[in-house]
Amino acid sequence: MNQKAIVVFSGGQDSTTCLFWALERFEEVAVVTFHYGQRHWMEIECAKNIARQCGVEHYIFDMGLLNQLAPNALTRENIPVEAGEEGELPSTFVEGRNHLFFSFAAVLAKQKGFHHIVVGVSQTDFSGYPDCRDDFVRSLNVTLNLAMDYSFVFHTPLMWLDKSQVWELSDTLGKMEYIQEHTLTCYNGVIRDGCGTCPSCLLRKKGLEEYLARRGGKSHD
Ligand code: ZN
Repeated sequence: MNQKAIVVFSGGQDSTTCLFWALERFEEVAVVTFHYGQRHWMEIECAKNIARQCGVEHYIFDMGLLNQLAPNALTRENIPVEAGEEGELPSTFVEGRNHLFFSFAAVLAKQKGFHHIVVGVSQTDFSGYPDCRDDFVRSLNVTLNLAMDYSFVFHTPLMWLDKSQVWELSDTLGKMEYIQEHTLTCYNGVIRDGCGTCPSCLLRKKGLEEYLARRGGKSHD
């Protein structure tokens, strides 16, 4: 089995950390971005820039069907970004998104003769999204192997990390400042530190502060 990997890539903090993680491990890396009518075209622009700067091949596919099927706050101006009530998912959850994206990434991987697929999902911080859980990724991995009679290996380097540990991983990879500068995770489409008030910005900022506090503490040991 060759050591070539496809990274499912949005241009955000998590998938960019996964890209740098993959570049350290695999002999060849390509990235795939799915466009599904996100409110902010900037996301795609960020992804393009990062891919170009890293010198990796970048595939961009239109998944507009997902916007038709699963209205959500990321694609519809008239749906506000809201945290879910107790036991409910937030309005930013896109039904079926990771299932479909990972499956299409696998189709692409097989066409290219790649076996490894890297995805930046995490069970730790993500509002209980069912398609970010370890069980789901393992189950889909088996299903895709059977569906295409091929050996895929899904990698989820962030699965058990909280946001502060994701920052720590990017720092270990020597890319923390790069990721701060070039990625977009804000639901309001503001690059770098973001709008500062949406749930995604708050999570990113809290994680960074926690990590910097921990790192600062260590250096005084
Ligand atoms: Zn924001």
